[in-house]
Amino acid sequence: MGHGCDYECESCGYAVNFQFGGGGILHDYKKMIMDGEYGERAIEVLEEGDTGHIYASWSPYVCGSCGSYRSDAPVVIERSGKRAYTSPVKCDCGKRMRRVNESELKGELTCPKCGGRMSNVGEYLWD
Ligand SMILES: [Zn+2]
Ligand SMILES: [Zn+2]
Repeated sequence: MGHGCDYECESCGYAVNFQFGGGGILHDYKKMIMDGEYGERAIEVLEEGDTGHIYASWSPYVCGSCGSYRSDAPVVIERSGKRAYTSPVKCDCGKRMRRVNESELKGELTCPKCGGRMSNVGEYLWD
């Protein structure tokens, strides 16, 4: 269960869809991690033991290099109720992406194509 938002550039019409939440995605993350899908660091965290909930949650990300936006669901490994590990989100250009913060979502997002203003044009629920 989660929700999504559509943003559209007011100048060129470039559109992006952001997804949030999604605890309902059912995968065997432990197996995927041990299969090496998330790299060495994730395996180390699992092998250190004492891990709790392992899940993936959707959030919007932005690339600091090329400005692209995208939603992704990195895997999170918890230990004692805290995030012990979050898998990195990489842009198509190869650079690491960071999470878009709340104030950016409420305020102004910049269009990666033309530099124009992106505005929220719709919200919906999904499961
Ligand atoms: Zn634009
Ligand atoms: Zn990029």
